[in-house]
Amino acid sequence: MTARARVVGLTCLRCQTNFNEGWLFAGCPRCRENGVSVNLTVTLDLSPLHGITPESLPPTPRGLWRFAATLPLRGDHPISLGEGATPLIHLERLGKRLGLSRLYAKDESQNPTWSYKDRLCAVAVTHAVETGARVITISSTGNHGASTAAYAARAGLPCVIFTLASVPDTMKTLMQAYGAAVVACPTSESRWALMREGVERHGWYPTSGFVMPPIGSNPYGVEGYKSIA
Ligand SMILES: [Zn+2]
Repeated sequence: MTARARVVGLTCLRCQTNFNEGWLFAGCPRCRENGVSVNLTVTLDLSPLHGITPESLPPTPRGLWRFAATLPLRGDHPISLGEGATPLIHLERLGKRLGLSRLYAKDESQNPTWSYKDRLCAVAVTHAVETGARVITISSTGNHGASTAAYAARAGLPCVIFTLASVPDTMKTLMQAYGAAVVACPTSESRWALMREGVERHGWYPTSGFVMPPIGSNPYGVEGYKSIA
């Protein structure tokens, strides 16, 4: 068996309390009691990876799953559309103007649905499948929604997206093209309230936050972003 990081739990970014439950998506319950909205982060025990360096990781698969050993997943059946391994583009002219001869942009638009959100959604939807989710949900007005819809489709799970009525039709169509049910709400607060019903009453799996004030995204999915570096 390949060595992997071990998930210790979810830790509060503010009070540092560690929680063993896997499905805590509304932030730290303890800080919430004190009126503070704050996200949790996945705590990993990296000791199983002792002695492993970036160079000793296998050359394949390329992209995000090359770093699977560092993700908070079992990882035996990744939900993937080929995300990661995006190119570094040398910005010669801009670099010259700024006096930076080695200025590069990492072109995350070359991910499957054209944004870095694909890294979050690949990890979050894989976690959803590994933990028995039946429906994926998100509040989004753009890329995050389209990406969630695509990865839910890849996993064969239904996807419900709460968006704003004011969002351009192009974006709604993009989310629908991947098979998601798109619900247009009048305000951000109303879409988060509806999403919260889905998560707390029906056990839907969220790839974004849904609390006020906002605390950020699904903590498992956020781990996918570190593969950019
Ligand atoms: Zn806390």
